[in-house]
Amino acid sequence: MNLLDCSVTYFTSVPAILSLRPKALSTALHIHNGGDESSVPERMKYQLAELVGNVRTDDHAFLLPAKLDYEKLSYAGQKTIIACYQQSKHSRTPFRITCTREHLADAAHLSLPHLRKALKELEAKRLLQVRQLWRKGIQLSLLDPEYDSGTPLYWIATFNRDRLETVPPLSWYKLLLHDQNISGDAENLSLDCCFCGTRNKLRVNTVDDKWYCHSCKRGGDHKRLWGLLHFFIDRHDWREALMRRELGL
Ligand SMILES: [Zn+2]
Repeated sequence: MNLLDCSVTYFTSVPAILSLRPKALSTALHIHNGGDESSVPERMKYQLAELVGNVRTDDHAFLLPAKLDYEKLSYAGQKTIIACYQQSKHSRTPFRITCTREHLADAAHLSLPHLRKALKELEAKRLLQVRQLWRKGIQLSLLDPEYDSGTPLYWIATFNRDRLETVPPLSWYKLLLHDQNISGDAENLSLDCCFCGTRNKLRVNTVDDKWYCHSCKRGGDHKRLWGLLHFFIDRHDWREALMRRELGL
């Protein structure tokens, strides 16, 4: 299972990137993401050494999302999210891994306090979901890095694996939002947001297959909506159930 199976565009990088200092890390990410190498100063190229060149042939290469804005993250945040993608390369559950914070801190070349802080930052930016398991173990779910939907990639992968796109987007919108107003294609439908509860702030466009809440800033397409709401398809009290989950009750 790779990022393509999750409808996410990607580029290839290598674990050595995790031992770079902040500026070099940003430059390496830029180059690996298809950026122009000619603007990189010679001194920096020397520092990056074999990281400039074809990294795809490296046995330890892994995929990173191309549309994620790494610059908006702290240095520790960047290293932590990269380490999570690297660790999920061989995971049986797509983009969902179980490990200890100590293990992840090692992989990210970070101290434990820095890793803890970075996990909080990534949760707040809706890039990662952390669930405490046993005493020291955690389950990490990587979230949609493109639309800020907060949908776990695990569910987008499930949607694609089960070929649920055979059902047209309009039908999914109707079913998931439990809304009788969606009778046919709509380009600018305003609904109450099922995530933050704000009235008339959720804009739905079934023609272009996109939705966006102007209050909580979540957005995405029908796959991402399915990933967030399919648990509630059969529940008549789905709004209450969803709110309880959002509030962690
Ligand atoms: Zn909202």
